[in-house]
Amino acid sequence: MKANAPEADVTVLGSGPVAGALALLLARVSPDPSRIRLCQHARPALPADQSHGQQALRTIALNHGSRSLLEPLDAWPTDGATIHTIHVSQRGRLGRTIIRHHDFEVPELGTVFPWQEVVAAQASPLAASGITLQGGSKATVVAEHDEYTQLVQDDLTWRSRIVVQADGRVDGPASNLREHPYSQVAVLATVAAAAPRAGWAWERFTREGPLALLPVHVHDSGHPSHSLHSVIWCCRPETADALCQASADEFAQQLNQAFGARLGWLTPIGARQQQALTLRWQASVLQGRRLAIGNAAQTLHPVAGQGLNLGLRDAAQLAQTLTPWLARPQGSPKALLQQFVERRRPDRRLTIAVTDFLPRIFATGLPPVEHACGLALLALDTSPSLRRPLARHLMLGLRS
Ligand SMILES: Cc1cc2nc3c(=O)[nH]c(=O)nc-3n(C[C@H](O)[C@H](O)[C@H](O)COP(=O)(O)OP(=O)(O)OC[C@H]3O[C@@H](n4cnc5c(N)ncnc54)[C@H](O)[C@@H]3O)c2cc1C
Repeated sequence: MKANAPEADVTVLGSGPVAGALALLLARVSPDPSRIRLCQHARPALPADQSHGQQALRTIALNHGSRSLLEPLDAWPTDGATIHTIHVSQRGRLGRTIIRHHDFEVPELGTVFPWQEVVAAQASPLAASGITLQGGSKATVVAEHDEYTQLVQDDLTWRSRIVVQADGRVDGPASNLREHPYSQVAVLATVAAAAPRAGWAWERFTREGPLALLPVHVHDSGHPSHSLHSVIWCCRPETADALCQASADEFAQQLNQAFGARLGWLTPIGARQQQALTLRWQASVLQGRRLAIGNAAQTLHPVAGQGLNLGLRDAAQLAQTLTPWLARPQGSPKALLQQFVERRRPDRRLTIAVTDFLPRIFATGLPPVEHACGLALLALDTSPSLRRPLARHLMLGLRS
């Protein structure tokens, strides 16, 4: 098959925030940004791990590290809800930890946006970046050779020296895939709090899974903006079904009972959704000249809001690693691609481990384990030297 479009140095597949961030980063370091190709597909855009036919209720807490990455790209969304304090507790047990922004001398611990706004904020800088933007049906790889990969999108065929899959799905040969299902489903909702606390986010571990409340700005809700919170309630599948089918009053009763009175009465607003949860990752994210990053490399449990922050670190490291090669793309990039894999391994492993461990350990239902978890929260609260490394990782990740 003959290519009917010029060759690309890097083709990025994906319509989400990680693909967009990588394309913007590569555009900054490529001598010819038109040789960077971003293949998106038709809207409406949703995260790849969410069912179609739904409007995305997903909110994303972006940490300080992600802000430092997106702001210089002019891709930091406006009008987010700031988190300066995180309260972590366990239902039915003593012990809690409070993490504050001034522990780390940063203006905030994170900022919360609807997923769509993170994607929408990339549209103008992408249009102005000089990269080749392709839309249409999903682009696919049709042939892989030692020197290049051949791709097709609608009636366009082209060759690319490197292909980056940032399409949100952990895919590929079964021998390379790892999967740990959770007996938990996330119920997503929006609530208005009667006694809001500006800038506070809440993570409350229950026997069925973590229950998070994040401040969020929603326009035209009819409620004061500072009272609104996004709910991510991880629970058993049968509980999730019941919570989604319950009337607004019944849902409110259950939620207020599980969360407690810290924010006054919580009134649900609008739709509720379920989201299946499974930890999936690729043992090796590099196959020939094809790499996976973001959710395509690892799809995590949403506890502590790490998935996109980790994916953005993948994008930043990849752009940095490829910078010297982009100046002379005729040479083989394989050694650099391998270097990228090595550099990202510790951060991927640690973040997968932390986000897998937390929802499991708090949900054992075993009183001695619950007691130990309560003591651990107390110890973290009273000892900044214990608290800081964990909080720093959740805020910045491991960077090389
Ligand atoms: C309930 C919940 C809450 C979460 N909260 C947080 C949080 O607070 N903080 C955080 O950091 N992370 C959070 N996450 C994780 C976060 O949503 C993901 O890590 C993030 O969306 C991954 O971005 P991505 O660009 O890699 O993939 P996606 O967001 O899945 O985007 C990929 C996009 O590419 C499209 N696509 C698929 N195939 C192709 C193709 N061939 N060509 C072009 N496009 C294609 C998909 O349809 C999709 O729109 C949460 C996850 C869940 C489930």
